[in-house]
Amino acid sequence: MILAVSELQNPPSPARAYRGRFAPSPTGPLHAGSLVAALGSWLDARAHQGQWLLRIEDIDTPRSIPGAAEQIQAQLLACGLQWDEEPVWQSARQETYQKAFNQLIDEGQLYPCNCSRQTIANALKALGVETERHQELVYPGSCRSQLGLKPENTLAAWRIALPEHCTIAFEDRALGHQIQNLSQEVGDFVLRRSDGLFTYQLAVVVDDAEQGITHVVRGEDLLNNTARQIYLQKVLHYPTPVYVHLPLVLDEFGEKLSKQTLASAIDISTPAHALKALELAANHLGLQEIAKQAHQSIGEFLSAATAAWKKKYC
Ligand code: GLU
Repeated sequence: MILAVSELQNPPSPARAYRGRFAPSPTGPLHAGSLVAALGSWLDARAHQGQWLLRIEDIDTPRSIPGAAEQIQAQLLACGLQWDEEPVWQSARQETYQKAFNQLIDEGQLYPCNCSRQTIANALKALGVETERHQELVYPGSCRSQLGLKPENTLAAWRIALPEHCTIAFEDRALGHQIQNLSQEVGDFVLRRSDGLFTYQLAVVVDDAEQGITHVVRGEDLLNNTARQIYLQKVLHYPTPVYVHLPLVLDEFGEKLSKQTLASAIDISTPAHALKALELAANHLGLQEIAKQAHQSIGEFLSAATAAWKKKYC
């Protein structure tokens, strides 16, 4: 089954006013890489005269670092990246995720799974499937016989049962046509973990829909999640936003800058330092001309960058 995004819209809705978002996980401060995602999504929203929302993705509470969300907000404001509505915190939205989860349980689309990583690796080996060391394991559906059970066993993870041939196709505004065979490349994926926490995939889809997000502009490291999210939008009868995945900032070893690799926080000690960080981010986003010019203030830089973004990408 190949599902193209056009088939997923329920029903084709009139063009909605642009609503974009930046959705950092508070696992560390904003670094050069996350600033690119913040600036790219802000510029796209402003170039479309749209709204830009901030969502703190602290759903994975054990990984969240106290104070990081506040630090990210202070860094955004120092860079002139002001959001339009009260920030949404995922940690306060468990009930909303629970409702979507219950809907899928009631429809018999989920099943509990107690497989450890090792059990999955062994099952794949028995099937003759080789997996590289750091590669994601494609879940072979070992616990599918439990489809339709109700969540009494709280120690299990809950997976969604995908159709047999589930291929998702979509257009990325930056990268063009994308296609992923979810059944073969991902397998039934987890919506609620065995520790009871809802996963990023479920939370992001519910939040994007509830916040009326029309455009998702984020780093290319998340591209591999998009087909899963579009599939969830389809089963939950949500509209699918426009997707734009931005180029990643790599370190000297060719690795993505991330909080895990302890990328350093952007320097906002003075407006001149914040402006420098913004210019580097703009350069990375393909706005070299703007990055090269001298700017008197952050405000002036941002309006020039918005005009340049509009001309180049909209
Ligand atoms: N919270 C995710 C991150 O910080 C981003 C999620 C998204 O933009 O969809 O990597």
